Amino acid sequence: MSKAINFEQAGKRVEELVLTLNQYSHEYYALDAPTVSDAEYDRLYRELVNLETMYPELTKQDSPTQRVGDALIEGFEKVEHSSQMLSLENAFNLEELEAFDRRVEQQAKSSHTYLSEMKIDGLAIAIKYENGYLVQAATRGDGRVGEDVTQNIRAISAIPIRLRDNVTCEVRGEVYMPKGSFVKLNKERDEEGKDIFANPRNAAAGTLRNLNPKITASRNLNAFFYTLVDPEEHGANTQKEAIELMNAWGLHVNHEYECIQSIDEVWAYIEKVEKERQDLPYEIDGVVLKVNEFSVQEEVGMTVKAPRWAIAYKFKAEEAQTLLHEIEWTV
Ligand code: NAD
Repeated sequence: MSKAINFEQAGKRVEELVLTLNQYSHEYYALDAPTVSDAEYDRLYRELVNLETMYPELTKQDSPTQRVGDALIEGFEKVEHSSQMLSLENAFNLEELEAFDRRVEQQAKSSHTYLSEMKIDGLAIAIKYENGYLVQAATRGDGRVGEDVTQNIRAISAIPIRLRDNVTCEVRGEVYMPKGSFVKLNKERDEEGKDIFANPRNAAAGTLRNLNPKITASRNLNAFFYTLVDPEEHGANTQKEAIELMNAWGLHVNHEYECIQSIDEVWAYIEKVEKERQDLPYEIDGVVLKVNEFSVQEEVGMTVKAPRWAIAYKFKAEEAQTLLHEIEWTV
């Protein structure tokens, strides 16, 4: 990387970027009302990452590269997570996926495969079940502490209050609003003269973080579960086994995953998913590639913000799909 920008100029730009990105994050996470597209946010974020890589001493504590999410909203009890809820590192092309693969190869001590999953565009949730019963649900928040949204999660009929097994476990996944429900909701809000939601992700976040479970119940939210905390305690040694186990317990999982032997196969999966994307009843904004074996995930480890054993490939088309009036779904 050439240092075309000197230290002083970089310092000024880093300051601007941190301020701007933190403002955007607040609008997105705390207010559920983004004012710029995700593609624009990702572009500025990437510029910041590049500058911090060039001049690591410019990395600020409050930089969005050093933290997950944003401050919590008022009105909900706080829940400390049993283990940190992380973000994901992003890739925007095949070269970046290959670089990710090389980093995994360097860290991994044993052979591994990958699991490719759809990246659901919703908001992350952690749910605890005790002896099969749902006892607590929390948003990701800042990754360490989230908002207690148990009553709202209980109001979502697609999420089981009781599992098929009397198991004690913690599962994590993504709450989302189906495209059809989003269009219907915004139409109703428009007719009532209320503000409309920018996209299904923000509609889902606004619905889950409102203080009235009746409103949550009326908006047809759904969820896909993709993380089982302490999977080995439940006999799962791979991500695929964890997904199948959660499915067997009665949790909604996304079956569109694929086990791939090497990174060369990931592009075929991405192309397939990108073609199917428009016809899916839910929004996806990319593909998540994960080391499949939990033992290798442990070997590869994580950064302050994201696991090193996973990466999110973000679709380019996302740039065009941001604000509501650009969306032409039919219900
Ligand atoms: P992210 O959305 O890029 O990826 C991490 C998240 O993906 C996880 O926390 C999880 O919730 C989700 N996910 C969905 N499917 C998954 C799967 N199968 N497996 C694992 N995780 C899955 O990261 P983020 O930290 O949640 O948000 C950052 C992104 O949010 C930015 O890249 C940007 O696109 C958007 N953002 C936009 C604005 C804006 O103003 N428009 C502001 C802040 C952030």
